[in-house]
Amino acid sequence: MFSEQTINQFQTSLRGKLIQPNDSEYDSARKVYNGMFDKRPAMIVRCSDVADVIAAVNFARTNNMLLAIKGGGHNAGGLGMCDNGLVIDLSVMKGVYVDIKKKTARVQAGCTLGDLDHATHVFGMALPTGIMSTTGISGLTLGGGLGHLTRKCGLTIDNLLEADVVLADGSYVKASAKENKDLFWALRGGGGNFGVITSFLFKLHPISTVYAGPMLWHIEDSKEVMYWYREFITKAPDDINGFFAFLIVPPAEPFPENLHLKKMCGVVWCYTGPLKKAEKIFEPIRKFKKPALDFVGPMPIPVLQSLFDPIMPSGMQWYWKADFLNELSDDAIEAHLQHGPKMPTWRSTMHLYPINGAASRVSKKDTAWNYRDATWAEVHAGIDPDPANKEAITRWAKEYWNAIHPFSAGGAYVNFMMEEGEERIKGTYGDNYSRLVQVKTKYDPHNLFRVNQNITPAEVHA
Ligand SMILES: Cc1cc2nc3c(=O)[nH]c(=O)nc-3n(C[C@H](O)[C@H](O)[C@H](O)COP(=O)(O)OP(=O)(O)OC[C@H]3O[C@@H](n4cnc5c(N)ncnc54)[C@H](O)[C@@H]3O)c2cc1C
Repeated sequence: MFSEQTINQFQTSLRGKLIQPNDSEYDSARKVYNGMFDKRPAMIVRCSDVADVIAAVNFARTNNMLLAIKGGGHNAGGLGMCDNGLVIDLSVMKGVYVDIKKKTARVQAGCTLGDLDHATHVFGMALPTGIMSTTGISGLTLGGGLGHLTRKCGLTIDNLLEADVVLADGSYVKASAKENKDLFWALRGGGGNFGVITSFLFKLHPISTVYAGPMLWHIEDSKEVMYWYREFITKAPDDINGFFAFLIVPPAEPFPENLHLKKMCGVVWCYTGPLKKAEKIFEPIRKFKKPALDFVGPMPIPVLQSLFDPIMPSGMQWYWKADFLNELSDDAIEAHLQHGPKMPTWRSTMHLYPINGAASRVSKKDTAWNYRDATWAEVHAGIDPDPANKEAITRWAKEYWNAIHPFSAGGAYVNFMMEEGEERIKGTYGDNYSRLVQVKTKYDPHNLFRVNQNITPAEVHA
């Protein structure tokens, strides 16, 4: 569709590589984490710096191309890739600059969570992010960022100090509490709607080794564990994070063979208080009911944050459904008990992530992330490497979600959503939605950035 001269000129304006369908790298470059998606863009620009990002944004805009942005490529709905358009691939922009004195990290947008942990842990510091090291820092941050440190340190966005952004018109701006405050507000939860973030500045925390890991109980004990867990986590100090899960024990070491492929329930803990107090803190937890498997102990934070990587390689089929929950009523637990244990494949799982600690003390109005008063973000993830099981994992996640949704708070965490449409996005942003539309209309009036959970600008609405 473009002349050779146009393509050559574009490539000459870049330091990074322009990858097209006839390139040998094309198939690997267009892959995203969720194997359900097989999109074929017209070109992928593997940006090496901010100038490349600006050139790619300008090229897409002037040629009226659909534009996607790939950070870590982990998005549930495959939103880091598109068909026929141009993809800005940030995966080689991986610089992390730690300021030890200020306890901050400037992080380029192609980093994964593992890249970040690697760079900060050596200085005894950490950023609250997610539970798998292969996830991209960009998409995770722009949607919020939930994980093992949420109750102690808040969401990832609660630790964002500034972001460098290439806007739809190709201009380059900083967003912070002092500059472009409206943009800074919107970036913290509003997804990739407003521009291409080329780097983030984060506040770090002096967290290095935690007392953490999974604790599992037999599936028959699920009711008792869920009743106990809802009381425990809603009253626990911020130092204790624990997400509840239904899961099937992986058929591999280090899990004992007698538990391989057994359906179980569990809590993955992360205690950030003084290590010498940890055993005492966990005494009542262990006493409540002796776990069938107890892998909880001192652990460097990068180990905890990559614990599940080996069982979740890239390219598998994933189907996600999600909600926020204010409470876990007896009836909701009944529905969980009916559907959770029916996991169709051993990697499929349901997680309840608590957000009732530090994250809940940030006002709803301070960032675009609306569900500050919810107690949990819930996700039902049907997962399997075999495309033949796509239907089974999708059906389980949908049926489970249908049963739980009546007990939910309304919207869902955007980073756990696939394509669910405008009404669901509005429900997720609630009272913050109209302000997001205003910011979108100001910074991206023609909706150049629309391969995302899209906030439609006002003009396009009309
Ligand atoms: C295995 C797995 C584990 C996960 N665990 C967690 C977890 O513990 N906690 C959690 O909060 N989430 C988690 N998630 C969800 C994750 O946060 C989202 O999938 C997120 O979108 C991933 O970001 P990414 O950069 O890898 O994605 P991508 O697919 O690259 O991009 C996702 C979206 O963000 C946009 N985007 C990406 N980079 C930029 C940028 N630099 N500028 C502007 N827009 C951009 C894209 O346009 C796209 O819409 C997990 C996902 C997976 C698959």
